Amino acid sequence: MSTAVALDGPAGAGKSSIAKRAAKELGFIYVDTGALYRTIGLAATRAKTEPVDSPGIDALLEKIKVELTFNENGDQVVLLDGEDVSGEIRTPEASMTASKISAIPKVRAYLLDLQRDIAKNSDVIMDGRDIGTVVLPDAQVKIFLTASPEARAGRRYKELIEKGMSVKYEDILSDVIERDYNDTHRETAPLKAAEDSVTVDTTELDFEQSVEAVISVIKEKI
Ligand code: C5P
Repeated sequence: MSTAVALDGPAGAGKSSIAKRAAKELGFIYVDTGALYRTIGLAATRAKTEPVDSPGIDALLEKIKVELTFNENGDQVVLLDGEDVSGEIRTPEASMTASKISAIPKVRAYLLDLQRDIAKNSDVIMDGRDIGTVVLPDAQVKIFLTASPEARAGRRYKELIEKGMSVKYEDILSDVIERDYNDTHRETAPLKAAEDSVTVDTTELDFEQSVEAVISVIKEKI
């Protein structure tokens, strides 16, 4: 039987970089489920469809094809109608659209099987908001990775500046706070720690310490 690690937590807690590294060390596949919501958000933006529950979104979901694949390095590549959109879904605008679109129950239902199928056949670390609570409730390991809003905004700011984007720390912080609010207050699958999860708070930890903390929780459980 394959092993599943559910890694949930708010935006910017470092889930993706920490999970990527932990997956490499453990020989697991890293799955970033946020990319799927971002891809549907991008499809809505391209189709000029508002990211709200509406017949327009229903029609969009019927039309598009979202696929999750892996390249030769084992890195995840998301395809929208066959096109690699992995880069285009990483802007702050795409983050906000993803946050809004992810509140739509039909969008969540649309992505559920896709996420479950990957975990069926491979050892995975799956990162998201509702992996331990909804997508993989039977995961052997559940981790809730968090950090203060200021620490999370600071890290994301640095990341975007390093990519050459022109952004303001205050804007990133208010985005983080708004996305936290959206994620924790939506009716369907809100962000919350699963009852049987272990919380890892990375506010005071650097990257290496965070990876170590996550790996030690995983090793303890499997
Ligand atoms: O993790 P990331 O920031 O890429 O996720 C983008 C958005 O997708 C989040 O703001 C969140 O609202 C949504 N999301 C979700 N459930 C997941 C993963 C992401 O609702 N499992």
